[in-house]
Order: sequence, then structure tokens, then C-alpha cells
Amino acid sequence: MQITTEPAVRVYNAQGVHEIILVCEHASAFIPEQYQNLGLDNNAAQSHAAWDPGAANTAHYLADRLNAVLVESTISRLVYDCNRPPESATAMPAKSEIFTIPGNRNLSDEQKQYRIENYYNPFKAQLARSIEQHPVAAVLVTVHSFTPVYNGIKRPVEIGFLHDQNSQLAETMLDVASGYNIQLNQPYGIADGVTHTLKLHGVENGLHNVMIEIRNDLIQSDSQCRQMAEHLELWLTQSLPKLETQPRLTVE
Ligand SMILES: [Zn+2]
Repeated sequence: MQITTEPAVRVYNAQGVHEIILVCEHASAFIPEQYQNLGLDNNAAQSHAAWDPGAANTAHYLADRLNAVLVESTISRLVYDCNRPPESATAMPAKSEIFTIPGNRNLSDEQKQYRIENYYNPFKAQLARSIEQHPVAAVLVTVHSFTPVYNGIKRPVEIGFLHDQNSQLAETMLDVASGYNIQLNQPYGIADGVTHTLKLHGVENGLHNVMIEIRNDLIQSDSQCRQMAEHLELWLTQSLPKLETQPRLTVE
């Protein structure tokens, strides 16, 4: 297993040969020391606001099972959310659900530009390279987790398959998957701006793509992550043969 390391992005299983390229934009809660936890207490700085708990572990198991390349961010999304374009207000959020982020308040253009250049651009460039250099890349799958309670409201959905302009893989997975409360475009959708990676690296490269959102209470333990990866592998490998060779834009 080859692991290459760059400041803001890591490629796991870089020699993976599967046609699926895996992505985990919210893999890490790491906040570089210079930001002094962005003014947050340890509790907030390690919470789901800072990363997607369980997502990276699940994605690693999935990468192992498929023998797929996995590109993951190594920086907290509170420093820079790699699933957001630089112009998005939530790329460096001053508020996230119940937390205000003191270290993101009133950022100067220079401060923003520093984070864009040091975290977003390397991530974006590495993912583009990993796709471009891959001999058979045909599918982009991003792995995320979400909190069971958001703004005080319990979320019944357990797994969401989200799509951007090409819905084929998400819809096919919805057909083949079972055993959980699984819904399309839940708990978020395209209108929430969460499909940036899918659009930029999936749709624009002509790759089939899906964003998988897993409720994080289902991937708390290592064995839960391993089990979830088994389900995802099954659903993905059952879905891929059903897809048209060329992805078709199904949503305008
Ligand atoms: Zn996420």
C-alpha cells in the first residue's frame, strides 16, 4: 500500500486500479497550529463541524476492498472546506450549525487567499491529477458523514445518495441498496452547494459520480466502518454494470 503525503492532501492506495476514484474532502479535523484551534474549545474543534467522523475510516476500508485510489484532505473543513469553491461563503465559515468560529471572523482577502493557495488548490490539483493519470478512471465517489441531530432536529435518514447533474449512479444505487433508511439527496442536496467536487471533478470530466452521506452514528466504531464499507462495495459493484457507458446529464 503506497501512501504519498502532501501538506493539505493525501493519496491513499495511489496505485489502485479500480475504475472508481474515491474522495474524502472532510477526512480530517486537523487544524494547523498557527490557527490556534480557530478560537474553538477542544470539544468544538473535534466535533462534526470540523470534519466527517467515520468517513475517512470507511473510505479507507472501501479503497482496500475495491483496490481504488482515495484522495483525502488532511485539513479541517473549518480551515478550508475542500468541497466548496473559494467564492462560497461556507468555504471558510464564520458559523457552522451551533458553533461560531472566532478564527474565521472578518478574514482579510490575504488570509483567505493564503488558505485557498495552501489547502484548496493543492487538494483540487491532486484530485485532478489522480483522475487524469489514472488509466481507467470512470466513476467518482465521495464519502461523507452527517450528524444525527442538526440544529436540534433528529434526522431519520441513515444514508443519502446525492447527485449533481448526472443522477444515474445515485438512482441506481438507491435501487440496489437496502437495509437502511436510504434516500436520494438527503440530508442535503444540490441547492445546499454540496456537490462542488461532483461537478468540478465528476460531471466536467464525464465521470459517473455520487456523493455518499452516512449518518455518523452508523460508523462510530472500526467494525461499523468496515461493515459499512462492505455494503458500499456491494452497492457500487452492483450498480456499475447497470450504468450507460457515457454519463448523461439528467438534471438541468
Ligand atoms: Zn462532508
